[in-house]
Amino acid sequence: MSSPKKPRLASRPVPGAAVCAPDDLADGAATSPLELSGPTFAAMIDLVKARLVRHLGGLEAAPMHRNRGARKAARALREGMPEEGTSFEPLLEQLFSRALPLGLNTASAGYLAYIPGGGLLHAAIADLITSAVNRYVGVWIAAPGLVEIEASVVRWLAGVVGLPEGAGGVLTTGGSMANLLAIVAARRDRLPTDFSRGVLYVSREVHHSVTKAAIVAGFPAENVRSVPTCERQRMRVDALVEAIARDRAEGLSPFLVVGSAGTTNTGAVDPLGALADVAEREALWLHVDAAYGGFFALTERGRAALAGIERAHSVTLDPHKGLFLPYGTGCVVVRDPTTLRRAFSSHASYLPDMQRDADLIDFCELSPELSREPRGLRVWLPLKMHGARAFRAALDEKLDLARYAAETLGAWPEVAMVAPPTLSLLAFRFVAPGRSPAEADALSRRVMRGVNARQRVLLTGTTVDDRFVLRMCVLSFRTHRPRIDAALADLRASLDAALSAR
Ligand SMILES: *Cc1c(COP(=O)(O)O)cnc(C)c1O
Repeated sequence: MSSPKKPRLASRPVPGAAVCAPDDLADGAATSPLELSGPTFAAMIDLVKARLVRHLGGLEAAPMHRNRGARKAARALREGMPEEGTSFEPLLEQLFSRALPLGLNTASAGYLAYIPGGGLLHAAIADLITSAVNRYVGVWIAAPGLVEIEASVVRWLAGVVGLPEGAGGVLTTGGSMANLLAIVAARRDRLPTDFSRGVLYVSREVHHSVTKAAIVAGFPAENVRSVPTCERQRMRVDALVEAIARDRAEGLSPFLVVGSAGTTNTGAVDPLGALADVAEREALWLHVDAAYGGFFALTERGRAALAGIERAHSVTLDPHKGLFLPYGTGCVVVRDPTTLRRAFSSHASYLPDMQRDADLIDFCELSPELSREPRGLRVWLPLKMHGARAFRAALDEKLDLARYAAETLGAWPEVAMVAPPTLSLLAFRFVAPGRSPAEADALSRRVMRGVNARQRVLLTGTTVDDRFVLRMCVLSFRTHRPRIDAALADLRASLDAALSAR
């Protein structure tokens, strides 16, 4: 191999070795402005690094939201496509000073609104690598190593919720897409040809993305049964059983029940074991939407609350929530990966041959996507660097914080706890003697506005049984006890102000 007469272009390249000498490949690189030289690329990263360090350093003290004047400020960012280029630094300035401050500070420790996540920075590093190397994982042959890493990640996630060996799935952009893939897989599995009479069952508290997915998957809205919930906002199994019987009597085809493992409204977990029993008896597919709650299965308390999830045919997980990753990371895991393959496999003559070995995966066979970025590295890197143990501990802390907040608030005479935390989400409203329910709604709204105006935490509300309630969801890896104490202090101050203003 070290012969001096070695040809410049080896006829049988050694795997991993450079095939051509560098001067063969100098395709005018120096003359194209689109190609960053190594030093320019590094210099740009240095500028970004400095900006990000400053930005992240200011996160703790930054306001929680900036929506006043946001319409005007956002419209001021509209622009046409430039014919000529601009240098990098003013563009960074535009991004960090004018675009990023608008809206919700979702990365902050004080973000207790909707379902938080946080955005682990390890994932940002992984994303930089993913984009810079620009490989794709739709087909195995394109990047077998990256496919294998991503497949491992999916198996880890399936294991977290207790699916058996052999389970698989695919990383998606979020929970909504994961729900869609699961519903299509269930439809293809249970109603292979004609699904026009297929009926699916969800609780009244189900996430709207499930209903939307059913419609996108071709079901008319009236084929989605909204099953009533009990006073703890969990699906009523007796009502489910009745609905199935009624539909069968009418000649319809029940095929799918969707359980929620942590509803977005109040964090309720449906009785998953009982749903699994019904599904088994009725030969229905059981899908569990665990976009919010699934990763609590890493903790002992979470595992107990989610008991039965391991019997699902498919589960939606959102690593951009419970694994604290950046937005754009969802996952659907399925007990039997051939169900996804049957739903999504499709061939064309210009595609490479798909892998036939049962243990090798072409991700394009498991989802509608073909050319897509590897999503696995951003999950893999933080999990490899810290181990599941660090995530378990962080999630346990969130469970503790939500309980602490609920216990504190529960001791206030003005608080009606609508949903104490099953996991890390609580819902409550403010009541006062002599006030009508509508007045209590107004008081609760007013307190929430007052809290949010203080800019240390952000809470959002919802309605439960037609009454307005506040929610507090503790799920950012950056949220610790001091921020919860700030939330409680701001709630107290805002409540006192609202009561005395009357
Ligand atoms: C967030 C959420 C979804 C939707 O997931 P996206 O990642 O926002 O698309 C679905 N179901 C539940 C229970 C959720 O909390």
